[in-house]
Amino acid sequence: MAMRAAFYQGAGSFTTGTVDVPRPGPGEALLRVRRVGICGTDLHIFQGHLDHRVPKGGIIGHETFAEVVEAPAGSGFTKGDRVVVEPTISCGECRACAMGAYYLCYQLKVMGVDLPGGMREYWAAPAKLMIRIPDSLDDDDAGLVEPLAVAVHDVRRAGLEQGNSALVFGGGPIGTLIALVCKNLGVRVAVAELNPFRIDMLRSLGLEVVGLEKNVLRFADEWTGGVGVDVAFEVTGNPAAAKIVTDVVRVWGTVSIVAIHAEPVPVNLYRMFARELVMQGARLYERSDWEEAIRLAATKAVPVAPLVSRKIPLEDLQRGMEEALGGGPVMKVLVEL
Ligand SMILES: [Zn+2]
Ligand SMILES: [Zn+2]
Repeated sequence: MAMRAAFYQGAGSFTTGTVDVPRPGPGEALLRVRRVGICGTDLHIFQGHLDHRVPKGGIIGHETFAEVVEAPAGSGFTKGDRVVVEPTISCGECRACAMGAYYLCYQLKVMGVDLPGGMREYWAAPAKLMIRIPDSLDDDDAGLVEPLAVAVHDVRRAGLEQGNSALVFGGGPIGTLIALVCKNLGVRVAVAELNPFRIDMLRSLGLEVVGLEKNVLRFADEWTGGVGVDVAFEVTGNPAAAKIVTDVVRVWGTVSIVAIHAEPVPVNLYRMFARELVMQGARLYERSDWEEAIRLAATKAVPVAPLVSRKIPLEDLQRGMEEALGGGPVMKVLVEL
């Protein structure tokens, strides 16, 4: 039996074609894919930045939501179950895995980047990486569980608690979700963003926004009575933000680097020294972050539906990528199968 899939053909090019429906190997379930999110990583792939990891003819897609067609006996899953898939495959033996940081395994392989992902009608995925989605979570919301798990992880790693303050640089999908997770925790949060469409969306979600009209440093100063925020998240990937992110944090506060900075950029290390700041990276997620993300989305504690700007068919992946790169009025784009 044949199915449709999208194939990466090198920088700037995706094609849709047909290929045989995969046969699940030992421990694998056959899934019918329903939603696949397009994210910043996928845009890097589209631009050819990850050609050392993604082969020509490869299938991307790591933000997947699917329905079980058949599952291995004893896996706990049955036909019709709705699931998301953790895309990280780790060795289980290296130092990172031994420490519990399996999602940062020294031999880490990400499905949808290093290995084939979910941008196709049917997908054979390891059952042990599947997590069940409750009926209360609809299909589009389920398509946003992966980026929400990223946000949950970032906030947890930063050690934020009720009553703390946080400033998020960048109100794209991840920055917005970080702010919503903060808000739900009772953290006082503001987002620095320049794109007018995104500013409107952030405000409609009840979030405080620092727009173009205000200097971010002055805002942070006034907002915290000159003390500085407990945590600042760098989610823009823009060197201009990296340059000032240490300036808005209080003594012993935390700077969390969430964005991908592919090149070294200037950072004010004097402020890091003078206030004894902690700088930490936040990259992926672990199982407990997924479970918390599902709980937050299913209970509507974090409203994810407004973030979906557009749904496109698989055949429009090329155009969807081009539009997402254009930086227009777009938040999250989902491929609907
Ligand atoms: Zn992603
Ligand atoms: Zn490992």
